[in-house]
Amino acid sequence: MSSLSVLSIASEIYPLIKTGGLADVAGALPEALARENVAIRTLIPGYPAVMAKLESPTPVHVYSSLMGAPARVLAARAGGLDLFVLDAPQFFGRPGNPYLDVGGRDWPDNDLRFAALARAGADLGKGAVANYAADVVHAHDWQGALAPVFLHYDGGRRPRTVLTIHNIAFQGHFPAATLGAIGLPAHAMQIDGVEYFNGVGYLKGGLMFADRITTVSPTYAREIMTPEFGMALDGLLRVRADAVEGIVNGIDDSVWNPATDSEIAVNYSALRIEMRAGNKAALQRRFGLTVSSDPALVGVISRLTAQKGLDLLLAELPDLVAHGAQLALLGSGDKSLEEGFLAAAQNHPGAIACMIGYDENLSHLMQAGIDFIVVPSRFEPCGLTQLYGLRYGATPIVARVGGLADTVIDANDAALSAGVATGLQFSPPSAPSLAHALKRAFALYADEAAMRRTRLNGMRADVSWRGPAKQYAALYRTLARTDA
Ligand code: ADP
Repeated sequence: MSSLSVLSIASEIYPLIKTGGLADVAGALPEALARENVAIRTLIPGYPAVMAKLESPTPVHVYSSLMGAPARVLAARAGGLDLFVLDAPQFFGRPGNPYLDVGGRDWPDNDLRFAALARAGADLGKGAVANYAADVVHAHDWQGALAPVFLHYDGGRRPRTVLTIHNIAFQGHFPAATLGAIGLPAHAMQIDGVEYFNGVGYLKGGLMFADRITTVSPTYAREIMTPEFGMALDGLLRVRADAVEGIVNGIDDSVWNPATDSEIAVNYSALRIEMRAGNKAALQRRFGLTVSSDPALVGVISRLTAQKGLDLLLAELPDLVAHGAQLALLGSGDKSLEEGFLAAAQNHPGAIACMIGYDENLSHLMQAGIDFIVVPSRFEPCGLTQLYGLRYGATPIVARVGGLADTVIDANDAALSAGVATGLQFSPPSAPSLAHALKRAFALYADEAAMRRTRLNGMRADVSWRGPAKQYAALYRTLARTDA
């Protein structure tokens, strides 16, 4: 298989700078795709956190003015990644969050900042740097989405393009005056161009012109073509349906491996699943829950926002306690939800306990100790916590939306008798349907053999990047074979 060169354009990348799932995907794909003989090099902004970690940065391209600011492209390595870094201090020399000022507001020049990123990506894709050529330019989210747009309006020979949507809620929508400022021609301001509600839509433009569009699960790919989930872009996505594909995210199964995880109390594997019990006891102690192997221990690890549907769980807590189950919650977000869960913990000491905050290490012990992980999201492009749950034998109870629908096999009678169930799904995302799923979960828990089988099925499911990497590689190769 010949080697393929892909330029990825991402506004964040693990382990250098991360605010969400995009960083994980951008960070994991290069290693996973290397095994498929695809060489990925990633263009990222030169935030201070990035600049500080670069190994042997070398200038490879200079702009006297890029969107009105001096800039250069550096070639470098960092965190095991091959990078191009857009060093434009006027745009990216700001500490903290990549998109927001210290007051939590969008930076007022985000249109210029990420147009500069995409412009540099388009130029690299067209061969601006000697000895570098990309077969495919792969842009992520609205921050990279103008790359296919620039390549379209530039005309001439261009590499093929892919745009990935990680969450369609974020679209990059700016005033009409942005058009001239970012160097797009006046005729781009039309419905078949970047025009979006009388302004300029970055994601919208990218969805118009990318050769292929991907999102992070097949079900989310279908959902965003509907008014309910499409956030006003469903019509355009329906027009482009033939170019749209869903590929689920994987997890790093060397970091998330219960046999070697140093954050958990007792290491275990599918072969030594009874060892899990030590983690349950440790977790109960850590949370101040009654220490006992009897009750089903339900866990939540989540941002506490409307998307995640945890208000539904809050409504069902009295029932959960009445069934003799326990809840351990780790999360932070909306104040009303934080207060709701804290009040429930006070009302049910020993049975409900909450830790408000973000604690990566504790999240490992939780996955190792809980019996079930609940993810009642109203929408979920892919979701990671259910994947960690599967790997750790914490059986997922999930709303049947997005990536949750694609990664968990519901323990219905057919799946149980075929021996393939890995969790429980419910639909719609409502309190009564969650209540019903919890009841089913507690019945499963009471059936020791079926519960063990379901847990083991989850632990043996392949949730790594290996499968997704093959799908991305196939997509790149198909694209590279066709003419622009
Ligand atoms: P989203 O990106 O929408 O928040 P995902 O399920 O895709 O949801 O990813 C969430 C990631 O953040 C997971 O790795 C999860 O373990 C982690 N996480 C969320 N909340 C917390 C928390 N309070 N403490 C530790 N880890 C958390």
